[in-house]
Amino acid sequence: MKKIIKKSYPVMGMHCASCASVIKRKLEKLDGVESCTVNYGNEKAQVAYDPQKVTVSQMNHEIDKLGYSLMEGEMDHSDSSIKSQKLKDLAKLQRHVQIVLPMVAVSILVMAWEIGADPLGFWPKMPEMLMEFFHHLLPVFATYALFVIGVPYLQGVIRFFRYRVANMDSLVGIGTSVAFLYSFIVTAFEESLASYVNTEQNYYDVTIVVIGFITLGKFLEARSKLKTGEAIEKLLGLQVKNALILRDGKEIEVPIDQVVVGDIMLVKPGAKIPLDGVIIEGKSSIDESMITGESIPVDKGPGDTVIGSTINKQGSLQIRVVKVGSDTMLSQIIKMVEDAQGSKAPIERMVDQISAIFVPIVLVLSVVTLIFWLVIGSQFMPFSQALTLGILSFVGILVIACPCAMGLATPTAIIVGVGKAAQNGILIKNAESLEKFNYINFVIMDKTGTITNGKPVVTDIQSIGSNSEKDILQLLASLESHSEHPLAFAIVEKAKNEKLSLHKVKDFEAIEGKGLKGTIGDTEHFAGNLKLASDLKIAVDDEVIKTFTSQGKTPVVFMTKQNVIGYIGIADTIKDDAKEAVAALHKQGIKVAMLTGDNERTAQYIAKQVGIDRVIAEVLPADKASEIKKLQKEGYKVAMVGDGINDAPALATADVGVAMGTGTDVAIESAGITLLGGHISKLPKAVSLARATMNIIKQNLFWAFFYNIIGIPIAAGLLYPLFGILLNPAIAGAAMGFSSVSVVANSLRLKSQKIA
Ligand code: ADP
Ligand code: MG
Repeated sequence: MKKIIKKSYPVMGMHCASCASVIKRKLEKLDGVESCTVNYGNEKAQVAYDPQKVTVSQMNHEIDKLGYSLMEGEMDHSDSSIKSQKLKDLAKLQRHVQIVLPMVAVSILVMAWEIGADPLGFWPKMPEMLMEFFHHLLPVFATYALFVIGVPYLQGVIRFFRYRVANMDSLVGIGTSVAFLYSFIVTAFEESLASYVNTEQNYYDVTIVVIGFITLGKFLEARSKLKTGEAIEKLLGLQVKNALILRDGKEIEVPIDQVVVGDIMLVKPGAKIPLDGVIIEGKSSIDESMITGESIPVDKGPGDTVIGSTINKQGSLQIRVVKVGSDTMLSQIIKMVEDAQGSKAPIERMVDQISAIFVPIVLVLSVVTLIFWLVIGSQFMPFSQALTLGILSFVGILVIACPCAMGLATPTAIIVGVGKAAQNGILIKNAESLEKFNYINFVIMDKTGTITNGKPVVTDIQSIGSNSEKDILQLLASLESHSEHPLAFAIVEKAKNEKLSLHKVKDFEAIEGKGLKGTIGDTEHFAGNLKLASDLKIAVDDEVIKTFTSQGKTPVVFMTKQNVIGYIGIADTIKDDAKEAVAALHKQGIKVAMLTGDNERTAQYIAKQVGIDRVIAEVLPADKASEIKKLQKEGYKVAMVGDGINDAPALATADVGVAMGTGTDVAIESAGITLLGGHISKLPKAVSLARATMNIIKQNLFWAFFYNIIGIPIAAGLLYPLFGILLNPAIAGAAMGFSSVSVVANSLRLKSQKIA
């Protein structure tokens, strides 16, 4: 039997986006590997494979010879070995940088002196003795740079010839070793070559400077890349180590992984709540800012849900544990953020395709350029000069054309964007949702639980006929106690408060989008909206309905098969931040509509309160999705915001589904984005964050491509015949290093950007 599993493994040894595509191709060739995506940004490979056909160590073996390794054992965030490996690599790079930079400085000084002294006569010519000295010193430096610091690049060259795969290291390696080899031959056989080439001209300095700058670039890049992952580390740091629990009447402190569901935790004032649970005793105000990003503490008491890792500010609490281990909200958040950071944005597919063919194309281009200079160039100039230009172009192209910055452009911004969102209580499922959210121009909000608090209360009860109001409430509550609708909770709550006992109900049935029915005694009862009444062909008192709806109350019509026996008015309070959120969305150029199954006038009233201009009311649950499709046909990019439970089809239909996360479940399947803490004001924040992230990505891609498009022709010597300008390979090396650094730095800018 074929059983495909999908897992994510850390990959070590990647140096650019072309590495990612090499690994992808190699792994996918393996029998049993169905598909694979490799992300250079977070250095992970997600592999879909059949574990009966292929093992992780086989996969590792396949890429091992190319200089990469797949870390066995799925990414486990408690495992810090990867981080410590990365820190070790970073320290090694730093040592190399410290050694090579002084060599670079000397080389540049010598180069500048030679160039500066000659045509301008600005500086005195270098004394003969000093020149001799440097001519012997630079080869020593270059040898050290290439054969000690440049080992990864030389390995890249070997891999290129052995396995026909090339990455950034191969390009740099080929470029620098050609420069070195040429210089070596020229100096070694000075006498016999003197009549063919200019033996005074060697490129040891190029070797030193290119390797120096690229190593510096790598070091800076690795250092800032560690910073992009800080959000996850902060989340991991929130985890509580021990819990004080009540066992056999005694208070004992135990490690968190020994706590089980049902245990009673004791949480003192000022302490962190260890795990998700429900308060059974005590009242307090709780600081949930680390999870929801909302700084105002929330008052909670018995029956309320609390989230692990939040802080109990005042009272002593007894809390029954509801979730442990990977089920806790914090674990779910960490997993979601990690998954999202490792996912690929649609915009990146193009980049991947380009970088996969980029390296081979560059190799061909560099060889063609060299041949061009030798064959065509030498017609117009002495051979030795053509050879000089050919070699400089060859090395320059190889060095400048590495698609390193391209590969970093999207993933680093996604990592920072997703992490920052999480710190603000906005959970993004994947990069695709983030990218799509940037284009949203229409937001549809569900009424109940999104715009209103979703905790309706009964405000009016009117009896028609002989029943007392109490009788009406008692009868209706008996029926509603079988329903899950928020309105039902309001009615049952009211009956409970009045200490009414409930009748037995037979043949209960929920009528979707309309109400319910059930039999009490011998009488069949119905309760619901006007649609239900008209289905039953029962006339309602329009005046009563109008009074309720014009106050924003939802009318519930209570009926037998023949006539109305009562009217109930139910009101829900509007969220404090709803109005502000709608205004902010409007400012962002986004249209806002309200979608509800509730009465049109009730909906209109509430819409007006919060500044929504378009109301789609009295919609059956099954039709909510088609209302969204209608808007999409009109050309809108639609985000649907709902509670994610009974709105699932609508959330899934929208371009991006946004769920209001109120409980401790964050992995809402149909939602691309989850707003924690039930705060609708996070919606405009999410929009501005998505826009900021996409802006950064576009800037990054522009600069990454621009740099290659400009750099390659200059390196090839296109400007030489016209202006005598040729890109010095040393400068190419510096540009190459700093282009990656600047892309990562640009992405990190997102961290400090204020979001609306
Ligand atoms: P919404 O979630 O937008 O209110 P629903 O489809 O859940 O949409 O409900 C539509 C309408 O049907 C409600 O506004 C209410 O008038 C009526 N209704 C549904 N269930 C009940 C119920 N249990 N009791 C009374 N009315 C109900
Ligand atoms: Mg609903």
